[in-house]
Amino acid sequence: MLLEVKNLKVKYGEITALHGVSLSVEEGRLPTLLGANGAGKSTLVKALSGQLKPAEGEILFNGENITGLPTHEVVKRGIVQCPEGRKVFPQQSVYENLKMGAYTRSDKKEIEEDIEKYCQMFPVLGERKNQKAGLLSGGEQQMLALSRALMARPKLLMLDEPSMGLAPLVVQQVFRTIKMIKETGTTMLLIEQNAKQALKIADYAYVLDIGVIKAADEASAMLEDETVRKAYFGTT
Ligand code: ATP
Repeated sequence: MLLEVKNLKVKYGEITALHGVSLSVEEGRLPTLLGANGAGKSTLVKALSGQLKPAEGEILFNGENITGLPTHEVVKRGIVQCPEGRKVFPQQSVYENLKMGAYTRSDKKEIEEDIEKYCQMFPVLGERKNQKAGLLSGGEQQMLALSRALMARPKLLMLDEPSMGLAPLVVQQVFRTIKMIKETGTTMLLIEQNAKQALKIADYAYVLDIGVIKAADEASAMLEDETVRKAYFGTT
């Protein structure tokens, strides 16, 4: 198992945001963590990336206990986050944004090769390589943010609500991109509110509700489970 989260509790002072969350990420598979606003998704991402120290529980990565390690140590082990809201550097070029994603690497030649790889995989990035990232559309910026995160060659890429704030057609494009990335063999944890779309591309899923995992199943089974759909996704 690549990542194992066991009975994780996270508190903000007196408020408990995660009440003993357990989940796992299998290498090469795509799990999704679904949940509404305030469910605790961001809190979990922050605990996994070392931005928040859990009150209880364990985070195991490749069998190593990484609970409570600072972010740079977590990144060093290959856990990379693609943050909510895209956050590309708007004044820097597409090329410079991609290069910044490789800040932990020193293999110059391979960095250039990877930049070329993503410019071919996503031709719009290649065409706009020397333009400011801020001039890209929302969907293109998301593509750049994903490619930039991949430039770190992560062992686990955490995607924090990649469809947030994008128009429906663009959302579909972003999910297609995630599917393409999956096919290249990158292991990801997809954190999403958009359950329907996420379940279509994920292999298995967890539903987080007010700090508790309420359902866990194969994505195809969850997509067909009317009880889960009605209770958590507001669709029938
Ligand atoms: P969203 O999709 O809106 O980002 P989320 O699922 O990521 O929601 P969290 O942001 O993790 O949810 O919040 C989980 C709970 O923790 C909420 O009840 C929230 O009010 C609370 N919370 C989050 N951050 C803090 C904080 N800094 N101090 C106190 N409570 C917080």
